[in-house]
Amino acid sequence: TLTQRMARIVKTLRGEARLTEANTQQMLREVRLALLEADVALPVVRALTTRIKEKALGEEVIGNLTPGQALVGVVQRELTAVMGGDYAGQAAELQLAVKAPAIILMAGLQGAGKTTTVGKLAKFLREKQKKKVLTVSCDIYRPAAIAQLKTVTEQAKADFFPSQPEQSVLEIAQAALDWAQRHYHDVLIVDTAGRLGIDEAMMQEIAALHRALNPAETLFVVDAMLGQDAVNSAQAFNATLPLTGIVLTKLDGDARGGAALSVRQITGRPIKFVGVGEKLDGLEVFHPGRMASRILGMGDLFSLVEQAQHKVDIQAAQQLANKVKKGDFNLDDFKTQLSQMKNMGGLSSLLDKLPSQFQAASNPLKMNQAEGQIRRMEGMINAMTPLERKKPELLKASRKRRVATGAGVQVQELNRMLSQFDQMRTMMKKLKGGNMANMMRGLKG
Ligand code: GDP
Ligand code: MG
Repeated sequence: TLTQRMARIVKTLRGEARLTEANTQQMLREVRLALLEADVALPVVRALTTRIKEKALGEEVIGNLTPGQALVGVVQRELTAVMGGDYAGQAAELQLAVKAPAIILMAGLQGAGKTTTVGKLAKFLREKQKKKVLTVSCDIYRPAAIAQLKTVTEQAKADFFPSQPEQSVLEIAQAALDWAQRHYHDVLIVDTAGRLGIDEAMMQEIAALHRALNPAETLFVVDAMLGQDAVNSAQAFNATLPLTGIVLTKLDGDARGGAALSVRQITGRPIKFVGVGEKLDGLEVFHPGRMASRILGMGDLFSLVEQAQHKVDIQAAQQLANKVKKGDFNLDDFKTQLSQMKNMGGLSSLLDKLPSQFQAASNPLKMNQAEGQIRRMEGMINAMTPLERKKPELLKASRKRRVATGAGVQVQELNRMLSQFDQMRTMMKKLKGGNMANMMRGLKG
């Protein structure tokens, strides 16, 4: 699998100071395969690997990292950059600051998810941006399509403009626009017909709509599951219409996300949203960094590796992995974890970077984001005897009172810390064979 591939890359070639032609050649081949496996289109893969190679050569291999880890860092950064973001993954927003109503024109093949996305956007704009939204269907060829838009618009609690069947697409759009103006709508979303394939008549129609409406946003909706084929439709639509953004749908399925890279690279347009479900709440703002991770298939593991360059004692991480493997994770280890997390810039930012499975399991720790609280937890552990740290079960009520007093906290807080430790221990046991070990391997190389 992809994960194994990347793990293999991470392990190769220890103890070299720089990424060179020689030590990266084989790894670059693996990267190329990994991208192809993630469904990135071939020409895009070629362009990307060339770029990655340029960026990688000469890159210093810092500290305990292997050239493999350094290269993975480069790959992650490049993918993120190509998808339009810095590492923080700034989202591209809808540009609706025009004279109201701002028009959003939806484009894309049939089945891409346009109508569903209209509903999602209507809900998003109404709830998150307090906009008054009107929708209209220019998909006059299929009566069911108009009914579908009406349904999702009602679900979104937005307003629906009923199209008259005898009118042309342009007349309908104009009538909706007049209505929106007269009723002070902030946004008019125009749904359109899509064919199953690229079709000249369809392209002409949507181009005419674009000319007539002069939309603030022209969003190309594309099914991520299409993988390589997404590129062809993106190319065709991009050639006909001045697209302002992309919505990548059906990412809740097994789509690997390669389409995001391809479509972005081919059109040069930002991906603004991703669809992650059939329901109206299945819409997320697009984050390049997260998508890069998805394409690499390993959560945000690589950014962890990156942070590790500077701060984590990799040795300690490895020892911890071994302990977890043997099933004797104790309060001393818990303390080590706590202080590492503190070093890495706060629990919350760390938790954000862990693979999602691990994130969910780490929830109890989220309650203790504040560094002050971590220090108190460390204080409580320090107040225990070495034996108690190894076997916290030994702590009876009287000892708990002593420990709490020693650390200057209430017994309840001590109990809370102990139960968090317990939850973490349970979680780590669960992850023993899987993610945790992978994570530690990733850190260690
Ligand atoms: P249109 O022809 O472009 O208007 O596409 P529709 O909005 O009618 O969507 C086609 C199908 O894809 C429907 O069954 C939708 O429920 C489904 N769909 C749309 N977006 C998503 C998504 O993000 N995730 C999933 N799983 N299904 C979606
Ligand atoms: Mg539709």
